[in-house]
Amino acid sequence: MNSKGVMPVHSNIGWLLPCCYADTVHMEQFSILLEEHLKVENAESIEAILESDNWKQFYETILNDYENAPYVCKYRCTKGNVWPTKLYPDNK
Ligand code: SF4
Repeated sequence: MNSKGVMPVHSNIGWLLPCCYADTVHMEQFSILLEEHLKVENAESIEAILESDNWKQFYETILNDYENAPYVCKYRCTKGNVWPTKLYPDNK
């Protein structure tokens, strides 16, 4: 859970995602979390997914590597929040 109270969610395609904002047509920005071994049906447990190197790397990126963070993270969870629809005007 982040400081805004957002918790990981189970997507309708079978993977955990860090929040519902990640569950968009731009999900490829979260590709580090979408490897086959991280699919819920393939993992040993939910904890194993969340404690995987992929998830640790993802958190490291959003906390300390702003330039490489997903767009939705930059604009949804940084100062001056902008809704993703403003980022992707073609995605109404
Ligand atoms: S930083 Fe990214 S993953 Fe985390 S809550 Fe915000 S949009 Fe979701």
